[in-house]
Amino acid sequence: MFTKILIANRGEIACRIIDTARKMGVATVAVYSDADANARHVALADEAVRIGAAPVGESYLLGDVIIQAALETGAQAIHPGYGFLSENPDFADKIAAAGLTFIGPSASAIRAMGLKDAAKALMEQAGVPVVPGYHGANQDPAFLAERAAEIGYPVLIKARAGGGGKGMRRVDDPADFAENLAGAAREGKASFGDAAVLIEKYILNPRHIEIQVFGDNHGEAVYLHERDCSLQRRHQKVIEEAPAPGMTEAVRAAMGQAAVKAAKAIGYSGAGTVEFIVDGAGGLRENGFWFMEMNTRLQVEHPVTEAITGVDLVEWQLRVAAGQPVPLAQEDIPLNGHAFEARIYAEDVARDFLPATGHLHHLKFGTGARVDTGVRQGDDISPFYDPMIAKLTVHGPDRAIALASLGRALGETEIAGLTTNIGFLGALCRHSGFAQGQVDTGLIARDLEALRDMGTPNPALRALAALAALNLPNPQPHAGFTQWAPLTRHVVLEGEDISVTSLGPNRFQVGDETLQLAPAGPAWRVTAGRQFTATLLRFGDRVDVFAQGQHYGATITQPGASADEAGGDTIRAPMPGLVKLVSAAAGQVVKKGAALMVLEAMKMEHTMAAPRDGTIAAVHVAAGAQVIDGALLLEMEPQDG
Ligand code: ADP
Ligand code: ADP
Ligand code: MG
Repeated sequence: MFTKILIANRGEIACRIIDTARKMGVATVAVYSDADANARHVALADEAVRIGAAPVGESYLLGDVIIQAALETGAQAIHPGYGFLSENPDFADKIAAAGLTFIGPSASAIRAMGLKDAAKALMEQAGVPVVPGYHGANQDPAFLAERAAEIGYPVLIKARAGGGGKGMRRVDDPADFAENLAGAAREGKASFGDAAVLIEKYILNPRHIEIQVFGDNHGEAVYLHERDCSLQRRHQKVIEEAPAPGMTEAVRAAMGQAAVKAAKAIGYSGAGTVEFIVDGAGGLRENGFWFMEMNTRLQVEHPVTEAITGVDLVEWQLRVAAGQPVPLAQEDIPLNGHAFEARIYAEDVARDFLPATGHLHHLKFGTGARVDTGVRQGDDISPFYDPMIAKLTVHGPDRAIALASLGRALGETEIAGLTTNIGFLGALCRHSGFAQGQVDTGLIARDLEALRDMGTPNPALRALAALAALNLPNPQPHAGFTQWAPLTRHVVLEGEDISVTSLGPNRFQVGDETLQLAPAGPAWRVTAGRQFTATLLRFGDRVDVFAQGQHYGATITQPGASADEAGGDTIRAPMPGLVKLVSAAAGQVVKKGAALMVLEAMKMEHTMAAPRDGTIAAVHVAAGAQVIDGALLLEMEPQDG
């Protein structure tokens, strides 16, 4: 076994790898960019080496600098995590050339699966069912349009080098093909440096079911069952689970064997995932799944598999990379109970899931879940990297119990300082179709409005927010001498005036609510009709209240001011980003919802749409411009009347 390894990654996955290495008595070296000098993964590692500036191209993607750090610190092996250099065969080659071990498959195996088109061709040869489509070299738009017509709509255009759901467009109508082809190619080029695409039949009622495989350097390979990742938004996984709802022994064996066949076809060693698209109409079938791609690395959602098998996949990675055989035979791999993982992101669900940035003023995770995180309270979510805050993984004896645990763990999680998707994840846990195991990749899009609707704020939480805004509850209510006389004050939350009257020590009348508070550690025990525990926070002009699995956050404003300051005549950048494309021009008459401009932020494209029917008065930016949050992009002619 190695005595010291370097982790060529950051965030939660770097922390997770360090945990296992420590457990195995292996010393760890972290690498970090300037933005991460005080990051959690740096603090956890035995040593840490600075590798450059904040942008990934100047730090986490600098393979040579990272290899040099490994040599200088005496690390014998490099774990790439996921993302960054994890699926870069040249990096694997260079590590070997430096006399070090890459904790992952061979460079040739990565290459074989690196491009989705070549991988599909290879899998076809190996006898693994693949999605029907065109995955050849000809990239002429007219030729590709013909192929799409032949395959039959709907089709899916995929950047062949794509990943993380990027560079992918579903097309239902031939009239939209050309525009979507250009979009997928542009995103492929921007994110992966490769504009080539493939065209696939879009499988209706699609479910995403993937198989965790594990190979070793001795030609053995096993599967550790499946994960269902059908709960997706824009082809990105949101909640994953294992086993897959409705899975049978026969289908599991068929999918598992196909995945092992795929792995063996490329001499696969280490952890890998074979992703299948599954026709979910009418139950799972042995002939109803098709290979999509293989991810030649540890997957974000691997904890789900760890929960049902009891296997530490990172431990297996280290063992296999050190030359040991796969630790368990196929028939000895356990499958116990049910597990879910939810990905908590800094993102604004109400604003079309825009990635958010900010300071984690307050961070507390719920109980009963495994927490994988790369941040602590007081850290920042910067615009440089993936805005994931944490993954919560729960395990239970059956699906219903595990899902209830996930709902509870999310409800108890408190994050203040930036916008997160926790409320949305909680709504997913309560979705009746999901609760019944009726999953498909279209579920979120179909029910988005209901899932996003957080309802009217609970009046007790809003009342508590008013108290927090006035710094009212006193942690030492009986200290000193106080003369109590009813005293009424006012506070404005999101433009709404709220009156607060003190009725006695920590006893208040807020609007129609009477509340009694008692300190309970850092939180409060509240009696407002019923009793419950609440966390009250105030940072600057923001107040946050967490109670009863709910969150109410508000800004203290001036009387009469509206929280929604979005003027109808101006369109501003919702976040810092790069203007990729401007399709609007001054004088142009547009319909509500028309695409005016494409902004790229955090490697994703966001289309800026017309907020209403009208005429474009001015366009203030051109393609290629870097804009800051709130920058004025476009103006519309004021509306008549
Ligand atoms: P897949 O490639 O099948 O989507 P993963 O879910 O493991 O598999 O994610 C793939 C890559 O995409 C990872 O490297 C991850 O960092 C990145 N990724 C996943 N979700 C996001 C997201 N919301 N924003 C940015 N990057 C993401
Ligand atoms: P990535 O590398 O971005 O993960 P994938 O090829 O794994 O790309 O596809 C991502 C997601 O897109 C899948 O999980 C699935 O939801 C959807 N998808 C991919 N191919 C198809 C298809 N042929 N039909 C329907 N949905 C698909
Ligand atoms: Mg994928």
